[in-house]
Amino acid sequence: LTTTDLIEEHRICVCVRARPLNKKELTSKDLDVITVPSKDVVMVHEPKQKVDLTRYLENQTFRFDYAFDDSTTNEMVYRFTARPLVETIFERGMATCFAYGQTGSGKTHTMAREVFVMLGKPNYKKLDLQVFATFFEIYSGKAKLRVLEDGKQQVQVVGLQEREVKCTEDVLKLIEIGNSCRTSGQTSANAHSSRSHAVFQIILRRRGKMHGKFSLIDLAGNERGADTSSADRQTRLEGAEINKSLLALKECIRALGRNKPHTPFRASKLTQVLRDSFIGENSRTCMIATISPGMASCENTLNTLRYANRVKEF
Ligand code: ADP
Ligand code: MG
Repeated sequence: LTTTDLIEEHRICVCVRARPLNKKELTSKDLDVITVPSKDVVMVHEPKQKVDLTRYLENQTFRFDYAFDDSTTNEMVYRFTARPLVETIFERGMATCFAYGQTGSGKTHTMAREVFVMLGKPNYKKLDLQVFATFFEIYSGKAKLRVLEDGKQQVQVVGLQEREVKCTEDVLKLIEIGNSCRTSGQTSANAHSSRSHAVFQIILRRRGKMHGKFSLIDLAGNERGADTSSADRQTRLEGAEINKSLLALKECIRALGRNKPHTPFRASKLTQVLRDSFIGENSRTCMIATISPGMASCENTLNTLRYANRVKEF
């Protein structure tokens, strides 16, 4: 291990989480093609056929900091992912936790819990800290959100209100308001959320000055295949924008791990918004790659695992 490896090891955590087969997959007799043979390895067993029609399984292995199988509870996932980051924001640091994966793989399911547990934290008053929370979305379609940089190169998000929160209920209320803006109706809500990045932040301030920030980001679905051939121009543009932001994100996290002086955060709105979290001295990041276990999702699952693998070289 070199020093660089040690820094990266400490700063970036990348995990994978597989969910169980859902009703729809069970009904359609989809097969579970995922196994988690050890606590940091996930395998994909993809059924294939040779030219002579004999069938075989193509097994692919990926290693991460942690691999969570479909029996892992949110509580356990939290303990190994967001929990170790909470300390950072009390030590004047920045913590960021991402959920990355295809629509329906469990991003929101995982992130919602992480928010919830974060609140059960300490005595902010005694520490002379004020707590603020914000919840907003980044999506490329109609520009609901504009990112500006002021003279000090601080990114500001226009139209976003940061609220002081005094208790758990305040935060839950904020999340409720935020979520109600994410289109009503189950199907349309998922259709919308698959095209936007939802950002929830807890900001600690001491006498008006930023002390630490925790960002939880429920990323847009990473499946973009259908977009590129869509007849709808807007859909194609959105798809391209999402691709761009996810690629930029990968590069920024890699730069963070390598302590590189030049972080390419300008490449997308998402990374611009997270700028201070990427360049801070005391920044830590965790990515949870969520995967659907079904054979029908194989291609998306492999794409997710390859991406997550690139975020941190194992
Ligand atoms: P995404 O946000 O990635 O589109 P969701 O978090 O909305 O996906 O999950 C899709 C569905 O699968 C939801 O009904 C959710 O409750 C369920 N689900 C996701 N992950 C798990 C899990 N680990 N265990 C049980 N159910 C899950
Ligand atoms: Mg979701």
